[in-house]
Amino acid sequence: MHVCAVRRAIVLTITGRADLLEQGHEGIRSAGGKLFSTPSVIRLQSYIKRPTPRPRLTRKEIFSRDGYKCQYCAIKLDSQHLTLDHVIPRRLGGQHEWENITTACSKCNHKKGGRTPLQAGMRLGAEPIRPRTDIGRTFISYVSQYSEWEQYLVPWYRKSAA
Ligand SMILES: [Zn+2]
Repeated sequence: MHVCAVRRAIVLTITGRADLLEQGHEGIRSAGGKLFSTPSVIRLQSYIKRPTPRPRLTRKEIFSRDGYKCQYCAIKLDSQHLTLDHVIPRRLGGQHEWENITTACSKCNHKKGGRTPLQAGMRLGAEPIRPRTDIGRTFISYVSQYSEWEQYLVPWYRKSAA
């Protein structure tokens, strides 16, 4: 299941690559002035593989994964007072990736310096992991706006939870 732009959905239904299951509430006018009603739910004739959106590796996403908590001393701070720490320092070959970046307060980051946690005698609160893509979260934000989506989402949620 995916969310796609209305224009893409119209093109897919017009070209016969998707069936229209639910009509949307609004119309959309083409460049030529022709009025199309907007599809809301469509079924693709064949599934077009698209990459699953992944959370981007940003300060905000790392802090959010770690609950805005320094992973060494467990102090909770706002993002201005938190830093990113490469668990294995870059100069020791550590990569800039989810599994090697953690949240640290500046005091702990300074204390750790360019060392590994073992060398610095510091322990991580939690192993840094790559967050799972939460597809459910992608759809749930639309349901209040497009109630007709619900009947398609509920059985699908059950299936993916089983
Ligand atoms: Zn700390």
